[in-house]
Amino acid sequence: MALIVHKYGGTSMGSTERIKNVARRVAKWHDAGYQIIVVPSAMSGETNRLIGMAREIMPQPDPRELDMLASTGEQVSVALLAMALHAIGKEAVSYAGWQVAIRTDSAFTKARIQSIDETKVTRDLDAGKIVIITGFQGVDGDGNIATLGRGGSDTSAVAVAVAMKAQECLIYTDVDGVYTTDPRVVSEARRLEKVTFEEMLEMASLGSKVLQIRSVEFAGNYKMPTRVLSSLTDPMIPLEEESTSGTLISFEKEDNMEQAAITGIAFNRDEAKITVLGVPDRPGIAYQILGPVADANIEVDMIIQNQSVDGKTDFTFTVPRGEFSKSMDVLTGSVKATIGAASITGDAKVSKVSVVGVGMRSHVGIASQMFRTLAEEGINILMISTSEIKISVLIDEKYMELAVRALHKAFGLENGA
Ligand code: ADP
Ligand code: ASP
Ligand code: MG
Repeated sequence: MALIVHKYGGTSMGSTERIKNVARRVAKWHDAGYQIIVVPSAMSGETNRLIGMAREIMPQPDPRELDMLASTGEQVSVALLAMALHAIGKEAVSYAGWQVAIRTDSAFTKARIQSIDETKVTRDLDAGKIVIITGFQGVDGDGNIATLGRGGSDTSAVAVAVAMKAQECLIYTDVDGVYTTDPRVVSEARRLEKVTFEEMLEMASLGSKVLQIRSVEFAGNYKMPTRVLSSLTDPMIPLEEESTSGTLISFEKEDNMEQAAITGIAFNRDEAKITVLGVPDRPGIAYQILGPVADANIEVDMIIQNQSVDGKTDFTFTVPRGEFSKSMDVLTGSVKATIGAASITGDAKVSKVSVVGVGMRSHVGIASQMFRTLAEEGINILMISTSEIKISVLIDEKYMELAVRALHKAFGLENGA
């Protein structure tokens, strides 16, 4: 019997009424003869509420305790969904990540899944039960609960689909697929029927929060068919209609001849920029600056080192905004003195906007069109980074939405274009 994994996000699980709808949708698939595993997120707003309470107690709570707290939202969801299925006559059983067990490393608040034990889940599925597993969390080698980072239920779902050899992973959310850009920012955004795995990986890594990046990595590494679709339609819509709706992540090589230059625009509001001024231009300097930042488990993104003048240079890089003050502490601590920098400055009000598309490989002039569009809007570019299929710019956060709208239009991505 074919196995399908369903993932439902926070809005989809946002009230008991919505949970009842999820139960009806899941029951419809089960009645059609599929084995079903459901991976729900916490009810919308719940993870923020929990983390907010922790920060009321102290600004930088211990990550292990933060995970202990943040993981509870999903535990509420799985139990309520199991009850909603029981209420309509379905056999269902819920598990927290540690009960399955979903094993992770011990990098609290950003743990990685290492393995998933199939035993209990297989037994329950074979007994005809619908299995419900908490998203976002697992258990480390010492029995500590560890979470997978914000948006991590997507990753739980795809990882479970891979481990259990599911036929498909369906990511149900509050939009009906992956769009050319966030439809909440650009109302003219267009839904994509298919998006290549490479493009989805770039979009997710550049800030399109519709899928957590690690879920896309899992899908790509194991070629797990993954579809993003709406949970807000009538739960009883025909299965044939539902199973072909939304956006499919495709693993085929696209025919570049027909490919538009740009597929989508991603943005990330939560960036911060740090500049180390007047550092001696000698071998090892980048390592001396970024080594301690990496040791503090902070991810660095864009990096620029300027040409040196009189043996001194400036070094600029970006970090997630949430890690800005920690990064500044690391640098202004011992690093500044060790490398003999003149000063360190920072700006936590910057955003990154990126254009993405495999079609870029066969089209020239994308960068100049992007820079012209931003110039015409009077938007100053602070940093640039490129790869084969994306161009990213860092700009002042107050221009972010303007930039996204202008680029969406300039590259002809609107509905009906
Ligand atoms: P869930 O709670 O279901 O995981 P998320 O809020 O994590 O939902 O992700 C869905 C949201 O992603 C949408 O509501 C939308 O605002 C946002 N989003 C950002 N970029 C895109 C995009 N390119 N296409 C669709 N949605 C996007
Ligand atoms: N509840 C978690 C979060 O809000 C995980 C998820 O929704 O995917 O980040
Ligand atoms: Mg999400």
